[in-house]
Amino acid sequence: MKILVPVKRVVDANVKVSVKPDQSGVDLTSVKMSMNPFDEIAVEEAVRLKEAGVATEVIAVSVGVAQAQETLRSALAIGADRAILVESKDGVEPLAVAKILKALVDREQPQLIILGKQAIDNDSNQTGQMLAALAGLPQATFASKLVVADGKATVSREVDGGAETLSLTLPAVVTTDLRLNEPRYVTLPNIMKAKKKPLEIVKAEDLGVDVTPRLKTLKVVEPPKRSAGVKVADVQALIEKLKIEAKVL
Ligand code: AMP
Repeated sequence: MKILVPVKRVVDANVKVSVKPDQSGVDLTSVKMSMNPFDEIAVEEAVRLKEAGVATEVIAVSVGVAQAQETLRSALAIGADRAILVESKDGVEPLAVAKILKALVDREQPQLIILGKQAIDNDSNQTGQMLAALAGLPQATFASKLVVADGKATVSREVDGGAETLSLTLPAVVTTDLRLNEPRYVTLPNIMKAKKKPLEIVKAEDLGVDVTPRLKTLKVVEPPKRSAGVKVADVQALIEKLKIEAKVL
């Protein structure tokens, strides 16, 4: 059974980004980039399924600029077997990414596609759902547990006020939530081994997908600065302020 894992190169989660002066977006010059954290969880889950003998091959795919090869090498170091870079400009929109992934699903015929629930740069939370729709596949989003057996995937997902368990017939699309697993630390020998694993580069046009943007960013602004707080003399003054000014008591 093949598993396809889409991984996105995004600004590292620990970087504090700043908005460009012309408000056209976030300044990415000399900023550390990493694999989207939810995608790391997706790769880890796929590799665990391979180690458990459930999957036979894990294929990582990224849509993006040439540097996304580094992200793919990280996926290979976690344990993916091979990688595909669909080379394009940065910022391909979720619908175009989903169309590209659909073309790869047709080509590779994976039984399972595990994506992150969202990319932390655009917070879209769209690609997995759109891929499932385009490919006509069942989907379970925000998975916190995944069991694959007998041609079925059983997925636990957190919903309002509880947990839901779904059974999906394969092939299927699953998106990861934070609780699914804790990705392993990548060891140096595995980083070295990853350098020798196959990484194919194709262009979006080769897959017959038009990546022309359909959305226009009007402006990006920093969140409003928090104003300084007020110091109160004692508990009595605090209670009065909460009662009279904030009216929360
Ligand atoms: P989004 O819908 O943009 O929030 O992304 C959800 C998930 O789709 C990510 O966690 C990735 O698994 C996948 N994805 C989105 N964009 C890309 C990309 N450019 N390359 C590879 N995978 C992507």
